Amino acid sequence: MSRTVYVNGDFLPEQEASISIFDRGFLFADGVYEVTAVVDGHMLDFEPHMDRLQRSLGEISLESPYDRDTLRAMHEELIARNQLDQGLIYMHITRGPADRDFHYPKQPVPTLIGFTQASNLVDNPKAASGIKVASVPDIRWARRDIKSIALLAQAMAKQAAADKGASEAWMVEDGFVTEGSSSTAYIVKGGRIITRQLSQKVLAGITRRALLKLAEQENVEIEQRPFTLDEAKGADEAFLSSASTLVFPVIEIDGVPIGDGTPGPVARKLRRIYLELARRRPDSA
Ligand code: PMP
Repeated sequence: MSRTVYVNGDFLPEQEASISIFDRGFLFADGVYEVTAVVDGHMLDFEPHMDRLQRSLGEISLESPYDRDTLRAMHEELIARNQLDQGLIYMHITRGPADRDFHYPKQPVPTLIGFTQASNLVDNPKAASGIKVASVPDIRWARRDIKSIALLAQAMAKQAAADKGASEAWMVEDGFVTEGSSSTAYIVKGGRIITRQLSQKVLAGITRRALLKLAEQENVEIEQRPFTLDEAKGADEAFLSSASTLVFPVIEIDGVPIGDGTPGPVARKLRRIYLELARRRPDSA
């Protein structure tokens, strides 16, 4: 079945959707994006996703002509038209079409697109089995806090990990893990969750935000600081989070089993309570 996608105000069959070859998103990756999880037909954490979008837009001096109500309506319409029960909504805003010139156009006409991607978020087998991670050097730019559509370094990282039989890459800079190619990285040592503090070096994960709140409510101690790859390999457990995975336990890093090599209790619990909350109170997890 063909999806219905959104382009600049119109809902169209995916085959009919098109964008100018002069779009600055295409030519310069001049745009920002968001990915929101959908469980039971409801979005998780929509408001924080829109807060982060607003921040990303501000950081690249792009004023969106779309207010939050319009964006919410677009997301909800995509869910309805595609009868999405579980999966993701991808959206991005670019600086739109203009003659190819590095300078920003004086009067940009931003492009907004959105589409759904069905996926098994709740009963994903990787949540039960845990996943393998491979480390790669972090070769990205210096503003990883901006959710830029320029994702070549992340695609290279993910592919390098896949070539080694791993599902995710953990990127390493100056000996410290920054984050996953498309996820936030965590380890657990002595019952404490360790994850890098927010800065320009990492994306402020919306799932991270929700999980740290839940961990606090559960009286789990949290240390926000960088950790090394060696520390991760010697941790009691490791896990990652994102809208597209929610929480996946990490059972192996570079071939080294983490803990006893099976999904750890902290990751399993956080996944369970995040999902429970999401299903009970959609949009407020
Ligand atoms: N870091 C990076 C580099 C990512 O691409 C993602 C997923 N977009 C995340 C972290 C996790 O963010 P979120 O929980 O908002 O999906």
